[in-house]
Amino acid sequence: MRDLTTLPKAHLHLHFTGSMRQSTLVELAAAHGVRLPAALLDTDAVRVPADARGWFRFQRLYDAARACVRSEADMRRIVREAAEDDATEGSGRLEIQVDPTSYAPFVGGITPALEIVLDEAREATSATGAEVAVVVASSRMRHPLEARTLARLAAGYAGDGPGDVVGFGLSNDERRGDTREFAAAFRIARRAGLAAVPHGGELLGPAHLAEVLDELRPDRLGHGVRAVEDPRLLDRIVSSGIALEVNPASNVSLGIYADDHRVPLRTLVDAGARVALGADDPLLFRSRLVAQYETARTVHAFDDTMLADLARSSIRASRATSATTDRLLAGVDAWLAAPDHGSAPDGSPR
Ligand SMILES: [Zn+2]
Repeated sequence: MRDLTTLPKAHLHLHFTGSMRQSTLVELAAAHGVRLPAALLDTDAVRVPADARGWFRFQRLYDAARACVRSEADMRRIVREAAEDDATEGSGRLEIQVDPTSYAPFVGGITPALEIVLDEAREATSATGAEVAVVVASSRMRHPLEARTLARLAAGYAGDGPGDVVGFGLSNDERRGDTREFAAAFRIARRAGLAAVPHGGELLGPAHLAEVLDELRPDRLGHGVRAVEDPRLLDRIVSSGIALEVNPASNVSLGIYADDHRVPLRTLVDAGARVALGADDPLLFRSRLVAQYETARTVHAFDDTMLADLARSSIRASRATSATTDRLLAGVDAWLAAPDHGSAPDGSPR
């Protein structure tokens, strides 16, 4: 069994606040005089049922963590540490999701909030070797016109390299908001060449997921796991080449599935779906990127060849340039070819 931390991979589902190290959260809370809920100080993962109350509790904890991020320095630290942690775990490409609206009040607006994240993404790329690009995420909790404003902002920074905006997302409680009303924002994003990467198929099942497909025309889906409940819908996703950002620890923590065994990773892969494993919110789920690959190995019986395929799938589903993609894919080949020492996360031989 090869070392999964040296398997080159891309990390396509990680939220800005949710990426935070617990130790960083504690320091920021102390610095800003914020009292943290006990659940955020626990070492155990937050576990809530996938009902409205469960989601509400999750959201409350998430909001409490976000309330500790109050300055440019805090924001830069989060991006930098996310890149460091990803690099340590063999991620050669991180596409981190951020809704700049939440931090705008502390730094003078949504434009500077996004600029700070993008600038630090560039810096962190040079410092860590993990390429960091950004997905601008709008929220279902806010007015759809706000999503359009964010899409226009994101469009101005569209690109595929470090510190560029590569995609436009829609996050938060799937049960909130009318999906159709967010279609205009996604059209703006698509016209600018951004990937459409909304959440869907997590808290709600196939009917809602079909609406997300029809209205938002995603290139990738955040989660999408519940597509397995409707084989025709899953066929549609597979044949359209829509990649699924699958986050096993998140699904179990949020009670979408009762335990790791029930996460339908194998069903999705066997159906031919393009899967990219992600950590979603390690701050709350206490489980980072490599742990998702470990779960694939230990719970779902993926052997090293299949794990390499999962990593390739994540790399191909990223919006990285062909040069980066080729380099990372070559690193995966090297990892598989060299059982004793593998390769470094940036794809270069060790
Ligand atoms: Zn998410």
